[in-house]
Amino acid sequence: SLPHKLIHKSARPRLTTGHTVLVTGAAGFVGTHVSLALKRRGDGVLGLDNFNHYYDPALKRARQKLLEKAGVYIVDADINDKDLLQQLFDAVLFTHVMHLAAQAGVRYAMQNPGSYIHSNIAGFVNLLEVAKSTNPQPAIIWASSSSVYGLNSKVPFSEKDRTDQPASLYAATKKASEEIAHTYNHIYGLSITGLRFFTVYGPWGRPDMAYFFFTRDILKGKTIAIYESPDKGSVARDFTYIDDIVKGCLGALDTAKKSTGSGGKKKGPAQLRIFNLGNTSPVPVSKLVSLLEKNLKVKAKKKVMPLPRNGDVEFTHANISLAARELGYKPTTDLEAGLKKFVRWYLGFYLGSKKSS
Ligand code: NAD
Repeated sequence: SLPHKLIHKSARPRLTTGHTVLVTGAAGFVGTHVSLALKRRGDGVLGLDNFNHYYDPALKRARQKLLEKAGVYIVDADINDKDLLQQLFDAVLFTHVMHLAAQAGVRYAMQNPGSYIHSNIAGFVNLLEVAKSTNPQPAIIWASSSSVYGLNSKVPFSEKDRTDQPASLYAATKKASEEIAHTYNHIYGLSITGLRFFTVYGPWGRPDMAYFFFTRDILKGKTIAIYESPDKGSVARDFTYIDDIVKGCLGALDTAKKSTGSGGKKKGPAQLRIFNLGNTSPVPVSKLVSLLEKNLKVKAKKKVMPLPRNGDVEFTHANISLAARELGYKPTTDLEAGLKKFVRWYLGFYLGSKKSS
């Protein structure tokens, strides 16, 4: 049974104007930061996460500790558990759902395709099913991904660009989640906002991402692989600092209109929005490595390799003018400043050299 006392304490807004937000994937990288930011400004926050072992569960538990200190409780559950979700929605009147639970990572999809279908498609539908039958319906804000642009060669990527050539199963499930969102918006009047994040990095980040495992491997003296495309040189990414992403998420939440449907009855057109949240400044991976070397004060052992067909795209670059206009989104941290903060956290967390924050 659910620990109702903890749940209500966590979900109660401190300010009367505050929102009550269910954050799925709260023990994840982005979920942790978003939950902290919401709590800090006085919103009620309840987390949910299944603490899966896709990457180091100890890191997820450490983030959970951080959240508990801030007064955010995480329910240990899978978004596919419909009965449990129903119980939560019966117990707490959520004004918003910040849906960040997903199977992330493009390469792992080749080993475990089922987990992408389970979390990114079936789990998303399950959540929308419960949300659409709740009265009043919460507004849904969820993480899509820049990967939906796939093999699109037109840069920078704008929301209206083609998304019909996903390069990985991960990208295909994110693209599918956008189609599913349209359907639930159309039929049930759910207010839904999709955020296409571009390579998010920062403290408490994900160990499966290049900036993170490069840091680990450089410190261990292990050789790192830098991929190059035959025609474009070093692979480049529009690295976006976590605090900028959090501001974009809060902007999306604050501008989300109330749903028009209630209890599953359609009452008119509701909001369906999709935004890029990137940094508009792609950086080659070779430059990422030299910035890490500088911060770590260690020379990396490198080998340059041709980009394999494992789901990665060669280049990402966000056009963010829509998010700037509608959400007031304005990234302010460049890769050099952001990596400095990441490295300081990494050294503190793993090597205990300084206070990690
Ligand atoms: P993350 O893996 O750190 O966080 C996801 C969390 O969801 C994890 O803690 C995991 O345990 C949980 N989870 C997964 N499946 C679940 C399920 N079925 N039920 C309950 N919990 C489940 O990833 P992140 O980097 O924080 O990403 C957050 C969201 O943003 C994801 O949707 C991801 O696809 C998307 N995204 C991230 C990036 C990035 O660069 N970090 C880029 C584009 C999109």
